[in-house]
Amino acid sequence: MNFDKIIQAIHKFETIIIHRHVRPDPDAYGSQVGLSELIKQTFPMKKVYVVGEEDPSLHFLARMDTIDDSVYNGALVIVCDTANAARIDDDRYDMGDMLIKIDHHPNVDMYGDMMWVDTQASSTSEIIYDLYLYAKEKGFHMNDEAARLIYGGIVGDTGRFLFPSTTKKTFQYAAELVTYNFDRTSLYDGIYQINDNIARLRGYILQNFTLTESGMSTIKLTKGLLNKYNIEPMETGQLVGVLGDVDGIKAWVIFIEEDDQIRVRLRSKGPVINTIAAKYDGGGHPMAAGASVLTWEDTEQVVRDLDEVCKSYK
Ligand code: AMP
Repeated sequence: MNFDKIIQAIHKFETIIIHRHVRPDPDAYGSQVGLSELIKQTFPMKKVYVVGEEDPSLHFLARMDTIDDSVYNGALVIVCDTANAARIDDDRYDMGDMLIKIDHHPNVDMYGDMMWVDTQASSTSEIIYDLYLYAKEKGFHMNDEAARLIYGGIVGDTGRFLFPSTTKKTFQYAAELVTYNFDRTSLYDGIYQINDNIARLRGYILQNFTLTESGMSTIKLTKGLLNKYNIEPMETGQLVGVLGDVDGIKAWVIFIEEDDQIRVRLRSKGPVINTIAAKYDGGGHPMAAGASVLTWEDTEQVVRDLDEVCKSYK
């Protein structure tokens, strides 16, 4: 399969609405808004919207549109970076005339009339650049803003080109993207700068993490702890990777207590952990996955599961 059918659909529809997943990250915004910029640059007469709840920490990347339900009549809807329909932000995604899924997560939920899923891609933003390279022969145009967003999405999902998902192609695309005119320093600041509260909680995690013989680490961020450091559960994305450099840690889990559930964020440097997330109705990549549980007792089972996969990992 190639991108022809997706390009035909973009040609055909006058209104295009682009969604992404809840609890967005730079790749969700980068692919969603990067694609929107590409389409707007190529087809200035089309009406293109990006929707979903805003995350203030991602305002530096883009702002979302607010649209009426009526806009969905006769529209093409494209969902970026979202493996399963339940995680699509804004549940009006099925109110258009056609639905397309573009993603790089394991294809666990085949929603939509058309899909482009490439689990080898470092990020969905990388797929949007693939789409652009294919479509440019057919008259698609990149602009500086699309390049900034796509580059930001790739940087975010590869951990600054660190994760094994980063390939020769990723570097080639990055090299092409940086030739556009955007401020890379302020983009990195937006993604990586942390406030002093987060920095102090990072310190707490580094002081207090445990390490089992199997190479597993567990961190519990209770409401009390988050309140003490004056941090919202949503801001904890900047803390999840902090144990990755500790020698001896094969995989780790961070539990974050929210109002009505406990969020489970799993990361690994070897053992496959998205199977654990799937057991708790979650999902994600083999080395970065997530789920939610209801009680602290439930988290103990997650810890046992993680210990098992770490023990059997050679
Ligand atoms: P996070 O810890 O939220 O950064 O998520 C890591 C990866 O797991 C991302 O690719 C998410 O899309 C995925 N993920 C996190 N939570 C869930 C969930 N509840 N269901 C499915 N996938 C999830």
